[in-house]
Amino acid sequence: MSDCLFCRIVAGEVPAKVVHQDDEVVAFRDIDPKAPTHVLLVPRRHIPSLRETADADAALLGRMIMIARDLAVREGIDGSGYRVVINSGPQAGQSVFHVHVHLLGGRAMAWPPG
Ligand code: 5GP
Ligand code: ZN
Repeated sequence: MSDCLFCRIVAGEVPAKVVHQDDEVVAFRDIDPKAPTHVLLVPRRHIPSLRETADADAALLGRMIMIARDLAVREGIDGSGYRVVINSGPQAGQSVFHVHVHLLGGRAMAWPPG
């Protein structure tokens, strides 16, 4: 989808600080980090949000979480703790409609989220 920001990052048309890429998933640093570590993980395939995923996407979504786990080790935040978040839809604050996992860490976080 040429009008999707994250598709354009996946295609290399928009620059991003990529920290992981494989045949299915690309991970890059958030342009406006909300924590010292803030990485976004996206599937290469365009899926607008979690709402539009299918049961057949279970392995893909599981892999994204496993990659987030491994990136947390590389970022040195696995011991202190981190948060893995998917915002889905307007009330959750989703602003880019290409499904993505946030990996956030490096500071203490409040609960519940705002
Ligand atoms: P959402 O609000 O949809 O859950 O998360 C979208 C995230 O994308 C936000 O944290 C925002 O800072 C990030 N973002 C928006 N535009 C860009 C961009 O051009 N490059 C990168 N790397 N991140 C972006
Ligand atoms: Zn997209």
